[in-house]
Amino acid sequence: MLSSLIFIISFSFIPAVLVFAADFSYSGITGPAFWGKFNETCLQGENQSPIDIPYDEFLKFTKPDYISFDDSHNVEIENKGHSIEISKNLSGKLKIKDDDYELLQFHFHTPSEHRVDGKYHDVEAHFVFTDKEGKYSVVGVFYDISDQPSEFFNPIIANIPHGEDKKTIEFIGLSSVLKDIDWLNKAYNYFGSLTTPPCTEGVIWWVAHSVQPIGKDQFFKLRDTTGFNSRYTQVRKGEK
Ligand SMILES: [Zn+2]
Repeated sequence: MLSSLIFIISFSFIPAVLVFAADFSYSGITGPAFWGKFNETCLQGENQSPIDIPYDEFLKFTKPDYISFDDSHNVEIENKGHSIEISKNLSGKLKIKDDDYELLQFHFHTPSEHRVDGKYHDVEAHFVFTDKEGKYSVVGVFYDISDQPSEFFNPIIANIPHGEDKKTIEFIGLSSVLKDIDWLNKAYNYFGSLTTPPCTEGVIWWVAHSVQPIGKDQFFKLRDTTGFNSRYTQVRKGEK
């Protein structure tokens, strides 16, 4: 009786620790293949992101009904361990039909999460927008290593907090991003999901066609902080 009681206690206790005590990661038992433990949508969802975008599809250009990114002051940069996230006091707007979205945060993946004809880029930035109902729309921007440092990345790289911490960036030239990607005139638009748990679906994606440069030193400082943080591409409903 006692041994079976111990069995029940340990059986019910251990999985709870595994599920709730650990954060998700990009390898091992908390890696992408096991994200169903955090939210079953990650495993069972039918429109998960990222995806491998066929280049021919990528050429069917489209854009949101309205988009603006404005230079921002006193924004917060946070080292979340598996990502570097910039939030607070950001000024960005996006409109899809009658739905208005505001820029909530942006962060980076190394290497890119979306692929084009199977090929990845060195970095992918995700500019995450939300509307009043909490729906998401995300703008993805690719960066490849270059000899030229990126002005946009300068204040971000200079202020990456050591350890899991937060700092303030006085000025960030957000408007340059939209100019560089040609005002998002050319993007691949599809319905997908958040690429981290809880993997929420119904996300309207805009993956910019234009690939931007990031300086070699900037790239290594970013990548050495977060390490590999890219979910493998997902198979969409109807695909094999
Ligand atoms: Zn992301």
